[in-house]
Amino acid sequence: MPAPTLQNHPLSTQPRPSQYATGLMWFRRDLRTHDNAALFYALKHCKQVHCVFVFDKTILDKLPNKADRRVEFIWESCMALKSKLQSFGGDLHLLHAHAEQAIPALVKKLGAQAVFTNKDYEPAAISRDAEVANTLKNEGVELFRFKDQAIFEEDEVLTQGGKFFSVFTPYKNACLKKLDEFHLTPYPSEARMGALSPVNNLPAPTLEDMGFERTNLLDMIKPGEEGALDAFEDFLDRIDKYKDKRDFPAIKGVSYLSVHNRFGTISIRRLAKAAYDRFRTSGSEGAMGWLNELIWRDFYFQIIFHRPDAAQHAFKPEYDHIQWDSDEKAKKLFKAWCDGKTGYPLVDAAQRQLNQTGFMHNRLRMVTASFLTKDLGIDWRWGEQYFADHLNDFDLSANNGGWQWAASSGCDAQPYFRIFNPHSQSEKFDPDGKFIRKYCPELAKLSNKHIHNPAECPPFELQMAGVVLGQTYPRPVVEHDVARKKTLERYAVVKKAKVEE
Ligand code: FAD
Repeated sequence: MPAPTLQNHPLSTQPRPSQYATGLMWFRRDLRTHDNAALFYALKHCKQVHCVFVFDKTILDKLPNKADRRVEFIWESCMALKSKLQSFGGDLHLLHAHAEQAIPALVKKLGAQAVFTNKDYEPAAISRDAEVANTLKNEGVELFRFKDQAIFEEDEVLTQGGKFFSVFTPYKNACLKKLDEFHLTPYPSEARMGALSPVNNLPAPTLEDMGFERTNLLDMIKPGEEGALDAFEDFLDRIDKYKDKRDFPAIKGVSYLSVHNRFGTISIRRLAKAAYDRFRTSGSEGAMGWLNELIWRDFYFQIIFHRPDAAQHAFKPEYDHIQWDSDEKAKKLFKAWCDGKTGYPLVDAAQRQLNQTGFMHNRLRMVTASFLTKDLGIDWRWGEQYFADHLNDFDLSANNGGWQWAASSGCDAQPYFRIFNPHSQSEKFDPDGKFIRKYCPELAKLSNKHIHNPAECPPFELQMAGVVLGQTYPRPVVEHDVARKKTLERYAVVKKAKVEE
């Protein structure tokens, strides 16, 4: 294998820009200066590079909650990025505008001849970029887009028949076969900062200027590159135990890096390389297990890239024949699910964790998504939207993939007859009820045995624990066994549709 150099860097498919006097680096899901592909190429190919981030009104105006942790995370990370660029002698333009107009307008104002940015695989982002590229082209300005947020993207990993993979395990195997030092080489973007345009003291809108408020985000997460690197260092001490501990929400077993991955405050190459090296040098199963999750992330990026229709429809079309409940009763059940008041303690604790922190543990995402679709009979799109509004790490491809997995309509989903039992999931993954006690304090005094299902708890124990069902804590909104049967009937239509195809 040739030694990795930047002349023959993995991104051999990247566009080859020529030399420009002035370029513009457009930051989006890559709020960092280290190992940043587009930033590297901008600095390499332009004498002077200006930098910009747009708080895009097209996205922000649709957010239902003005106390939105994501906006605060982005704002804080942009302020950190701005300071870092200033420390290198440059600065960051921060605009609150519609990107489609703001980027061409800034290009004109600065007299830039090229714009550099990292790719985003979501359908709306692709059409936004196409529109910006078109407008710029009419002015004789190029838009260069680079692979940065994925290890492998688009058509880089295909089946032997030249199709995209829709099953994870063979995709993962093909990725691991292709993965080497070469693909994990970092871009030395910070070594070229001398090309930053020497502007400084550019104005920045405050959160309030943009109509947003502070949240409790900073009590839980340190945003920006520094926050990401601290969180990663903390996780590296735990990575070897990842596989054993990752399923227990009360244990600090996972990395909690998803919000940083979402906004690119850390490079995916750095994460994958650390896991890959650890596995190769020590055989760490934890490191391999974690690398596996990073590959799931790529897997869903390539799914949404190849099947953008999955954002609205079942990946497997026969699942769009399912009749979900949507009457007044279903709306009430949905509200109980959103508020964490279903009478199923693990589901309720999970939903409350989401509402209070913007995070939900992966095991719980699976449990609560399964509960919504297969116990309450509610369309996965309702839950998907609720997660989209509340998750700090919301990402269309992973969220859609996760929901369609739980609803069994997805590309490599669990079979529809596999229905999680919320009580046994609780006993298995929160055996001492530690997680439940944290988010459902009204149940805290119940024994480890009964905390998973208070409805089955003897009256004496309920009384001793101060729990009054229907008053201090809800009775179960549905009976799991009944719901399970109904779901199997509901999903029977899928088989029929498949046969009739
Ligand atoms: P770790 O376990 O430490 O994993 C490391 C990284 O791998 C994560 O930070 C994330 O970037 C990536 N990753 C892990 N699991 C997955 C996965 N299944 N799919 C894609 N990437 C993964 N993840 C999101 O980033 N955004 C979402 O909107 C999202 N919605 C989900 C909805 C449902 C219904 C389900 C079942 C899963 C969803 N996930 C989503 C995947 C997963 O739950 C989160 O990535 C994970 O819980 C984040 O915690 P962590 O950073 O500690 O993960």
